[in-house]
Amino acid sequence: MLDVIVIGAGPAGVFAALRAADLGAKTAIITRDEFGGMAANDGPVPVRTLAQAARLIREARQLDMYGIAVSEPVLDYPRLLARVRTVVNDVRMHSALRAQIDSLQVAVHEHAGTARFVDSHTIETESGLQLQAEKIIICTGGVSRRLSVPGFELTATHSNAWSLTSVPSSMLVIGGGATGAQVASIFNAFGSKVELFEAGPRILATEDEDVSAVVADAFLESGILVRKNFGKIESFEKTSSGVRMIFSKDDVLNSAEAALVVVAVGWTADTARLNLSTVGVELDHRGFVRVNTYLQTSAPHIFAAGDVTGRMMLVPQAIQDGFVAATNAVRDAKMMSGSQVNPIGSFTDPEYAQVGLTETKAREAHDVVTAFVGFDSTTRTIIDGRTTGFCKLIVDRATSKILGCHVVGERAVEITQVAAIAIAAGIRVDDLARVPLSFPTYTAILGRVAASAARQLNLEVNWQANRAEDET
Ligand SMILES: Cc1cc2nc3c(=O)[nH]c(=O)nc-3n(C[C@H](O)[C@H](O)[C@H](O)COP(=O)(O)OP(=O)(O)OC[C@H]3O[C@@H](n4cnc5c(N)ncnc54)[C@H](O)[C@@H]3O)c2cc1C
Repeated sequence: MLDVIVIGAGPAGVFAALRAADLGAKTAIITRDEFGGMAANDGPVPVRTLAQAARLIREARQLDMYGIAVSEPVLDYPRLLARVRTVVNDVRMHSALRAQIDSLQVAVHEHAGTARFVDSHTIETESGLQLQAEKIIICTGGVSRRLSVPGFELTATHSNAWSLTSVPSSMLVIGGGATGAQVASIFNAFGSKVELFEAGPRILATEDEDVSAVVADAFLESGILVRKNFGKIESFEKTSSGVRMIFSKDDVLNSAEAALVVVAVGWTADTARLNLSTVGVELDHRGFVRVNTYLQTSAPHIFAAGDVTGRMMLVPQAIQDGFVAATNAVRDAKMMSGSQVNPIGSFTDPEYAQVGLTETKAREAHDVVTAFVGFDSTTRTIIDGRTTGFCKLIVDRATSKILGCHVVGERAVEITQVAAIAIAAGIRVDDLARVPLSFPTYTAILGRVAASAARQLNLEVNWQANRAEDET
């Protein structure tokens, strides 16, 4: 019998297996398909490669502004997909993780088919493999949520991008969350006529309201038709050139059609065939595996980590959770999962990112000051012709500590990482304002916005750190 079996080789599973083996546990990892999971093969890595192509098209269109004459960029989609495959393979080959897993003598069972519990300690896969272990860590990730409406099988998910032979002439994207917004932004840049349907009153509902508003305006300006509060989907039906969506609002039927309909209405746990009920592993009301703060399920020897628990659903958090679950499984320890500082971002045009509390959430519990600097007023964004966006800082009036940072615009995700470090270090906003950030850079906006917040708090920003930005 093994000490630990990890099911699923995405970021959560790989880090769980690494940690378990590092602690001396005899460990095996089983995964249905490729090592690396969705992150490496179907999520951030390939999608970011498409986003990079979209960025290059935008940048090519900017060349004229700098006196460089070229013809209009033309996308060869099959060649782009070949690039995606190269990137995915390169990332996999250069990942040090596989070598570490092998050096720790973790038994890796790739392409094993779907695994399921036979009994509390036995796992069997479709390929016929049967393994037993004292402890089991479920890291099976998630799948796109399906809707039970007639004709749903006519729709696509983001994964269908890998099998398209050309860019669809038109696309309906259903769901204005992170995945839907990325799909809409990327295929709009590729030349599809995109309509983005959001059931709620705003797209990117988990972002700060100002961020949602600026991204929605930028989408509209770039040609994406954003349809908020659109109502309820009734059905999908085939047309001669694609798919029609029938929807209703206030009892009035309406329809929209396109060559392709992509549905991105959320993520659910990939547990359907695990046979969890027979081993006493409970799901929560959303269908994710229920875990306590030690990532232990309702069956004490079974742990879960990553998207399957329905928490942050991001790679860094999946990695952290894999580490915590394995530590607790092997050592019978009580390491807690979760961090106060979780930078989140997305590679749309414009990019957006956040760390900490939104302004609305911060105001519920704190007396706050907010500072705001627009991308139309910083040197680097003007140089690069990237003047859409802003950086907003939310600061606690009592402690002068940073509660949240929200950025829309070029390099938003990178800028927010620096704010995350400031929040994690617990530094005061006037201390951040004194850091002499390089000039002219995108991140320097943080110095400006921090100085603005510090001034509102009557804190002295006596070192002239960010004067370069103010005086040019
Ligand atoms: C379009 C898109 C873009 C994203 N972009 C980002 C981003 O920019 N940054 C970011 O941090 N996150 C991003 N994410 C989220 C990120 O990909 C996930 O949070 C992360 O992959 C979760 O890791 P995981 O290990 O929990 O699961 P996964 O990566 O989903 O891995 C789970 C693995 O388990 C396998 N499996 C499932 N069931 C079984 C079974 N019964 N038996 C055997 N194997 C099984 C699956 O095949 C899969 O290989 C994105 C997601 C999507 C969909």
